[in-house]
Amino acid sequence: MGVIAQIALGVLAIAFMTFIAFFGRLPALRHTPVAWLHRVIWVAIPSWILTADGRLSGGRITAWAGRTGHFVLYGRHPTVLIFFLALLGGGEVLFLPGAWPRLSAVNRVGGALAIALPYLFLWLSARADPGTVTAASLPRQLAHYPYDYALFHPGQTCRTCGLPKPARSKHCGVCGRCVHRMDHHCVFINNCVGYHNQRWFLLLLLSTAVLTAYGAAVGLSLVSASVRQRRPAWSLWKPAAAVAGKPLSWPDWLLLFTVGVQDDVGIGSVTLLMLMTSPLVWGLLGYHVYLIYCGTTTNESMKWQDWQAEMAEGCAFKRALLPPSPSPAPSPAPADDRQRRRGSPRATATAAAVGVPRTRTRWPVEPVQVLVRTENGRPPAVTSGPGVGDWERVWKLRDVENLYDLGFWDNLIDVFVPDYPFRDEEEDDDDDDDDDGGGGAEKPMGKPGTMTSSDLETGSKNKRKTRRNMRIKVKKTRKPKTSAAASLVNAAT
Ligand SMILES: [Zn+2]
Ligand SMILES: [Zn+2]
Repeated sequence: MGVIAQIALGVLAIAFMTFIAFFGRLPALRHTPVAWLHRVIWVAIPSWILTADGRLSGGRITAWAGRTGHFVLYGRHPTVLIFFLALLGGGEVLFLPGAWPRLSAVNRVGGALAIALPYLFLWLSARADPGTVTAASLPRQLAHYPYDYALFHPGQTCRTCGLPKPARSKHCGVCGRCVHRMDHHCVFINNCVGYHNQRWFLLLLLSTAVLTAYGAAVGLSLVSASVRQRRPAWSLWKPAAAVAGKPLSWPDWLLLFTVGVQDDVGIGSVTLLMLMTSPLVWGLLGYHVYLIYCGTTTNESMKWQDWQAEMAEGCAFKRALLPPSPSPAPSPAPADDRQRRRGSPRATATAAAVGVPRTRTRWPVEPVQVLVRTENGRPPAVTSGPGVGDWERVWKLRDVENLYDLGFWDNLIDVFVPDYPFRDEEEDDDDDDDDDGGGGAEKPMGKPGTMTSSDLETGSKNKRKTRRNMRIKVKKTRKPKTSAAASLVNAAT
């Protein structure tokens, strides 16, 4: 077997084992050899090791390894952050002395930027308060998102912090605090990723992905140049590599490449490291962009996964949160009916009548459904829980709504622009339509650079209507989507 075939087989085997280790638990793979192998990796092998260690050292080695692993992954200390910094800094120390004199002016400017930005975003995401829920911050955080009556319910208090839990918040066991729109606790930044630092975390991912890809490209071109000094016909792209009219064999191509790597071990090894890590960083970035596209967080994605399992077992039920409001408009479109406009005095009065607590938020859509699970698979009593009417069994995620998904661009704005007032225009139009000041409720917080009420006052009413219709078109909630990668990402970062 040739060297290349052996390497390819090795890579395939590692990729297959990684796939089994992380995805073998998926319901779709139940009763397949993949699930069986997954059990071998996570259950059988650890128990063999435990048994062997029990005989050898009375279990001391595994206990120490367990404590160390738990401390590294779940303790609040900068070990992984320092490792990340050492990887960045060490790579640059090895790579730059040999590479810098050989770089063009453009690549020197680009390289300096690519090197500096990950440090900047790492510092910003690590030192920022991710959105700790405190008594002082609570009113503002409660005004960000409504409860969706599926993943987040009003009236819940964190047992540790003793404070009400705003919608989309989660208690971080590592940091010992509740964090607003918690995504996950990231050991690389030694901080939670939440409402106030998610944008820095995404920019850290983007800048690191660009650095590794750019560095790998520059490194490969330098290694190629080294090889071509010995064999001018050598090319990075094997099909074009021919020596004296004869195509180069794969082993010869690889041998020459290895020689090029060894010419400057610093450049060569860091280039290989960047080639291997770049797809991981791009994958992680792609995953987080996908979560934004879905209008969800890593934490919520896992909660939706749990709902998916409940639904598959027939234990999930939904019903309307509020009775249908009598509308003067003839037959509103069902799609628009999915979301009720906030600030409407009629909707607020209806909510109050059926005992649904209503907090004004800046979010442009509000809950219309209640989702519950039962232990025995039978629908709950009509009188139990919030909502009105009969309970309807739901089998699929597509039968319910994700209140926090406004569409990709609005979801992106929500991540990158803190306190973005999604509801300003609609609220003003409500005032026009209903001849009522919205019950004297306070305005959602303003933000420079976005539509303000004074902008609206100067615009014509027709223009406002058109703009409102355009925005409403965007603001339809979507079906929830889950990602099998959520648990992997949560474990890895
Ligand atoms: Zn808490
Ligand atoms: Zn945390």
